[in-house]
This record gives sequence, structure tokens and C-alpha cells, in this order.
Amino acid sequence: MSTLHKTNPTQSSSYIVDSGDYFITTLSAGQTLKIIDLEGNQAADTLFYNADNPVERYSATDTIATQGAVYLTEGSRLMSNQQRCMLTIIEDTCGRHDTLGGACATESNTVRYDLEKRCMHACRDSWMLAINEHPEYGINKRDIGHNINFFMNVPVTPEGELTFADGISAPGKWVTLRAEMNIVVLVSNCPQLNNPCNGYNPTPIELVIA
Ligand SMILES: [Zn+2]
Repeated sequence: MSTLHKTNPTQSSSYIVDSGDYFITTLSAGQTLKIIDLEGNQAADTLFYNADNPVERYSATDTIATQGAVYLTEGSRLMSNQQRCMLTIIEDTCGRHDTLGGACATESNTVRYDLEKRCMHACRDSWMLAINEHPEYGINKRDIGHNINFFMNVPVTPEGELTFADGISAPGKWVTLRAEMNIVVLVSNCPQLNNPCNGYNPTPIELVIA
């Protein structure tokens, strides 16, 4: 996280995260996390854990089943693999967020794009680096599971297929989440260059914790 820097250390904490970097921290129950898509069409690949018991983690299937909808937006309750609400989306100026597409990985890059893409940096690499550099959070490789791709547009077609489409976000759009329990949040700001999830132009995001 060498490129992270606090921009407003007074009432709330604000961090700029470059594409290809990660951000990991804890939120206390009741705190809010605002994620700002500074330049538009970026993807923030995000994992959530119960800070007091990291085997409890975000579950896309429990979240989708609970709300009866595949996209996430204002009002969505983000559920854990133990069917408890971890966070609630309380503001959303983007409109919807993906939790079906998964995170980019060197392996999936070779399948989706080309064998030679294997050497390109991917979100899963950033997550692995984060949990190795921060063993204090108690997260290991087996805990990396479902994620949310904030600002990413992955429409489900009438045929039931997933497509990675040009973004619906725009510069300055944001989403705010309220922690309903003590949370570890791990964000990879996506460096993907092979699909339009970030407009083929990965850009920084801002995180504000209040
Ligand atoms: Zn990615």
C-alpha cells in the first residue's frame, strides 16, 4: 500500500487507491465506507469479513437470495455465509453494482483472453499480496471467496448469460455502505486491461471512512 496517502485526516479518513493497488482496513459497526469512482468506469473488487471471526464472510448467493435480485444498489443488505447482514448500502449514485462476475485472476485472464495475459497483474494478485502483508487480519487463501465489483456493469442477458459491458458509472459517482458488524474490508482497485469493466483505462478510486 505504498502509494496510499491520507488526504483528510481530521473528521473522516480519506484514501486514494491507484488501480492495481489494494486497501485493507477494519470498520467498526456503525461506521460508513464511501467508495468514489473518481474518473468513472472503474471497478472496485471488494471482499468483506466479520472482523471478529473471519470465517464469516460476504456471500453473493445469500445476498441475492435474501433480496431476490441479482444487482446491488441502495437498500441492498450484504449478507454473510452465516445469513447475517454484514453491511447495508445506504447511498448509491451509480445505480447498480455487480456481484456475479467475480474478480479478475491471471488464470481467468488466460481463459478469457489469451495465454500471454497470464503475466498481467490481476485483482486476485492484489488480494493475495494484501493478506500476506497483513497477517494480523487472520485471513488466508481459503477465505477468498465471493466478492462485489462496485461500479462494474455485468448485465445478465435474456438468455441468462453474463456479459462484461461498458460501465454505467461516471466521474464522481459513489456508493456508501454502513457496517452492521465489525468488518474487515479488502478492496482491489482493478488493473484489468482486457475488458471494458474499467473502460480499458484503470483509474484511481477514493475511499472515505467516517
Ligand atoms: Zn480486476
